Amino acid sequence: GCGICVKKCPFHAISIVNLPDELEKTLVHRYGENMFKLYNLPAPRTGSILGVVGRNGAGKSTSIKILAGQLKPNLGNYSSPPDWDTVIKYFRGTELQAYFTKLASGEVKAVVKPQYIEAARRILKGTVRELMVRADERGLWREVVDELNLSHLLERRVDELSGGELQKFLVAAVLVKNGNAYFFDEPCSYLDIRERIRVANVIREFSDYARNYVVVVEHDLMVLDYMSDNIVVVYGEPGVYGVVSKPYGTRTGINHYLKGYLPAENMRIREDELRFRIQVQERKTETGAYPVLKWDAMVFQYESSGFRLTVEPGDAYTGEVLGILGPNGVGKTTFLKLLNREAEPLEGAVLISAEKISVKPQELSPRVFSEETVMANLKSASPATLDPSSWIYHELVRKLGLNRMLERRVDELSGGELQKLAVAVALARDADLYFLDEPSAYLDVEERISVAKTIRRIVEEKGKTALVVEHDLLVQNYISDRVMVFLGKPGVEGHAHSPVSLREGFNRLLRELDITVRRDSESGRPRINKPGSVMDREQKARGEYYLPD
Ligand code: ADP
Ligand code: ADP
Ligand code: MG
Ligand code: MG
Repeated sequence: GCGICVKKCPFHAISIVNLPDELEKTLVHRYGENMFKLYNLPAPRTGSILGVVGRNGAGKSTSIKILAGQLKPNLGNYSSPPDWDTVIKYFRGTELQAYFTKLASGEVKAVVKPQYIEAARRILKGTVRELMVRADERGLWREVVDELNLSHLLERRVDELSGGELQKFLVAAVLVKNGNAYFFDEPCSYLDIRERIRVANVIREFSDYARNYVVVVEHDLMVLDYMSDNIVVVYGEPGVYGVVSKPYGTRTGINHYLKGYLPAENMRIREDELRFRIQVQERKTETGAYPVLKWDAMVFQYESSGFRLTVEPGDAYTGEVLGILGPNGVGKTTFLKLLNREAEPLEGAVLISAEKISVKPQELSPRVFSEETVMANLKSASPATLDPSSWIYHELVRKLGLNRMLERRVDELSGGELQKLAVAVALARDADLYFLDEPSAYLDVEERISVAKTIRRIVEEKGKTALVVEHDLLVQNYISDRVMVFLGKPGVEGHAHSPVSLREGFNRLLRELDITVRRDSESGRPRINKPGSVMDREQKARGEYYLPD
């Protein structure tokens, strides 16, 4: 076998570095006997923002905890951990030596936005205003709160904030601290694309990265690309070991990451390339085809909250993915409920809908599953999910790592694990229509692509239809044939536009967000332009907000 993938296995055949010794010399931490091992660390540098990308369970959060001084690195010696002098000596001659010297002497004042934000809800008692005033050490809280669009929530209790609001509050609370090392562990979960850009801009503007260390872990590649100057890739075997790569410039680093090959270490990190569909193809629906889904102009209102949704007419065909784009709180989930006949419109109607609809709900909770264990839920969705010779096992169950947690009970799963199970169950069910409400939340890039590929395959090969609500624009670009853009005043009113071509829909959304996106000359992947850059101004002048030719 390849052990920890260091011998010449087919997977790593390309590696010519004599990895065993090289790698062992960089062992930074091991949680315990037969437990996860972390090799190397991201080396934060002042003057730039360092992005971190990589698989779930590969040691990104562990790296942050070590750099922030929350976890002392044991260099693999978990039974008698070394002292700081030994640690500093270990990193002699590397960029990390200076960092650890400072860390050991208490000169690093680290502030961390943790990956999991739910714990903060239980601990933080008070209103947004009270807690911001208490956290503020830089006299910046009003400005930061304003730019994150949190000002209308000042009197709201923090434990009553929605996921997205809590995320932004925590980002603000970190930035107003007087630190010299800021760490953001997945700051975009729960946020829509507008808020992701807002968070990226605020981190850039207020972290003072010219003087401070700033590190951001993120799975939304377009946002990570926009936010960071350099990146490191964390690769390895999730849950077993993780290796932090050398730093790369963000553009080339992400391209290498997608290709699956890191030239500076001569390392193949994956069997195949992660390919995003880069053409904005105009797929044609066969003329004369009969839609599987068709709705009138509709009006809907929730009596209790008064939220009002207006919907333009539309349809969807066999073999098609309709992407749903738009900010939080403007009725995307409500629209799926109308199509699913869980909600009744005041005006208009759903004219045609399928009998069998499989839904992946947005809300992740053990309660959405009918069976007790992962295996029982997969089996009840489709026995093929447990058959290692089936494509769905190969493409979905194995790629998402569900095969390693078959015996687990759903009430013991983490958010990310619940998401994987929910997506697999929804896609494995036999149906004519698939509704996937935010399927990529918590998933890493590889998992997002596996899910996206599976959706395309079901739609193309089995002739099904899918509607997918998704904030990750790269994923949305990959899966959708046409898109519906939702706009409006969050929580008050929403308007759903008719389905249009990918380019037209992205253009509409991006114009609304005042963001332009160009094509990377090398990989063809979409990249967000820096506001005010030449490309940004030119594209705006031409009204081409998304991927001009
Ligand atoms: P990532 O942030 O890249 O998803 P983490 O750094 O959170 O990964 O975790 C890497 C691995 O280390 C995981 O397999 C996780 O189960 C394991 N791990 C994390 N924390 C601990 C701990 N306190 N004790 C033992 N194992 C841990
Ligand atoms: P999105 O999916 O675009 O984030 P939703 O369709 O979930 O938006 O919700 C739109 C708005 O409708 C929310 O801001 C919320 O205020 C309101 N809303 C959602 N569900 C209910 C409900 N069951 N009762 C009353 N109001 C609701
Ligand atoms: Mg993590
Ligand atoms: Mg929703």
